[in-house]
Amino acid sequence: GGNLNQKIDYVFKIVLIGDSAVGKSQLLARFSRNEFSLDSKATIGVEFQTRTVVINQKTVKAQIWDTAGQERYRAVTSAYYRGAVGAMLVYDITKRQSFDHVARWLEELRGQADKNIVIMLVGNKSDLESLRDVSTEDAKEFAQKENLYFMETSALEATNVEPAFITVLTEIYRIVS
Ligand code: GDP
Ligand code: MG
Repeated sequence: GGNLNQKIDYVFKIVLIGDSAVGKSQLLARFSRNEFSLDSKATIGVEFQTRTVVINQKTVKAQIWDTAGQERYRAVTSAYYRGAVGAMLVYDITKRQSFDHVARWLEELRGQADKNIVIMLVGNKSDLESLRDVSTEDAKEFAQKENLYFMETSALEATNVEPAFITVLTEIYRIVS
């Protein structure tokens, strides 16, 4: 928002993790700027984007970090996770491998981040139903077992993107307030 006088009550750092090409950068573009690009280049340079929202009458600035092509195993540095109070762990519902890798992303996240971190498992590209390779049930079951929130999203169609981020921010707020 462009309101320079806005008083910020909280700043919450949220990290995006998951395999390359699952749609992390486009989820962030959708949430922070309501934009989407079909030919998004691998993220270069930009460390984070922000969006300010109101939760329970408090002004919360979400500072959302995006990997800069560090999705290779163990390439994400500890600085990326430092101070994070929320995480969006993203896979592509049309790429089984990206879901199979969720367990090791989770292991890395739990090893590096604060133990109270709020984690949302995100199955992105729900618009590509005909190409689905990961059932909603499988993901739901995994999320339940691992105590994660879970939603399927489409950055392209703007489905569930807002609810996914707002759920994480609201849950963080509940924990810190
Ligand atoms: P990242 O590597 O995880 O940051 O993935 P990107 O955000 O760069 O997206 C990788 C590719 O998937 C790009 O071509 C995007 O346009 C495309 N993409 C991202 N989100 C969606 C989505 O919800 N639906 C569809 N159909 N394509 C998407
Ligand atoms: Mg990216």
